[in-house]
Order: sequence, then C-alpha cells, then structure tokens
Amino acid sequence: MGINTAKYKEIIAEIKNVTLVAVSKIKPNADIQALYDLGQRDFGENYVQELTDKQSALPKDIRWHFIGHLQSNKVKYIAPFVYLIHGVDSFKLLQEINKQAAKNNRVIDCLLQVHIAQEETKFGMDATELATVVAALDSLPNVHVRGLMGMGSLSDDMQQVRDEFRGLRKLFDQYSFDTLSMGMSGDYAMAIEEGSTMVRIGSLLFGAR
Ligand SMILES: *Cc1c(COP(=O)(O)O)cnc(C)c1O
Repeated sequence: MGINTAKYKEIIAEIKNVTLVAVSKIKPNADIQALYDLGQRDFGENYVQELTDKQSALPKDIRWHFIGHLQSNKVKYIAPFVYLIHGVDSFKLLQEINKQAAKNNRVIDCLLQVHIAQEETKFGMDATELATVVAALDSLPNVHVRGLMGMGSLSDDMQQVRDEFRGLRKLFDQYSFDTLSMGMSGDYAMAIEEGSTMVRIGSLLFGAR
C-alpha cells in the first residue's frame, strides 16, 4: 500500500518534457491524493464508474484521462469533465463523444488508438482505418483529435516492442498531431526513446495491482 515517492521523483526528473499520466485504476483515493500533494495533476483511469466516483471525491483541478476501452453508452457519464480520452478506436465512438461534448458545451480532446501489438485481443485501428477517420473529422466540431495512442505487445522481446513503437511514431508523423501516448511501467523509457510525448505509468508509482 502507499505510493512510491522516490520513484515518482525519479521518473519526473527522467522524463523531462514528456507528460506523465499516473494510472490510478483500482487504487484508493488516499494514494491519488498523496501523489497530488507531490504536484501530480494528470491521472488515468480505465473504468467509467470508478472514474466518476473519484472525480467527485478528489480535487477539481485534476486532469482526468480515460485510458480504458470506452463503450458508447457510457460516454455521457464522463463527458462533463474528462480531460483526454486515449483509446478511441472507432468513428462511431467519436460521433458519440462529439454528441455528448456538444451537450456539455465542450470540445473534448481525444487520441485515436492504433493497433500495434501482435495480440489479436488488443483494441485499435490500422493505418487505413485511421486515415478514413482523420479525413472525416471536420464533421465533428466538438471533438479535437490531438494524436495517437498505442500499446506494445505483451512480450519479453523488447526489440519487437521497440519496432512497434517506432512504427507508431512514423504514423504519428504523417499527421499534424501533438500528442503520442505510448509507454507504460515496463517500457516507458524505450517509448520515450522512440518519440513518445505522453507515458501512462501505474504500478511503478502505486505498486502492483
Ligand atoms: C493499466 C494501464 C496502464 C498502466 O500500466 P502499468 O504497467 O501499471 O504502468 C497504462 N495504459 C493502459 C491502457 C492501462 O490499461
């Protein structure tokens, strides 16, 4: 239990101008508050109900990132406050985010998830689907697609994961985006070497889940 303060300070110093999203899923509010008290403001959550509970209980200047798989019928619960939605993997979902953002008089920042891993089970678009979605963004004035998000293979083969990150950065560079969310506890340093601008780190900060 409890956060790893020394590790937090080490990561902050190491990653420099890359944004750290502290992934707090399953972790208690007290741990989030402890990291907040050290200055952390960006937190990531995977589950809608857990996110809305935490948002109402914790300081209002926290920037909440939704990093899980978002179902269209749940967008309405996070639309009033969510700061950045990382895992958008279909145009249909983007349309629903646009609709709920408009109801809240907001423009919601989003990242499109690209499938870069070998596993079949991971969500995300391929390069062709991505191009199709990006070409249609003008029809969605209440979403602002800032960039891409990807998850590397669950593999011990670090060269494999490095190649996946490198490929995602190449794709990212074909668009005028500003945010590339890639890298977790086990591979964030490599992700940064390959051009990540935002890392999502949970267990190194909060302990194993
Ligand atoms: C849980 C999760 C993370 C954090 O994983 P750690 O290995 O604990 O750093 C990052 N990104 C996504 C999408 C996650 O679901």
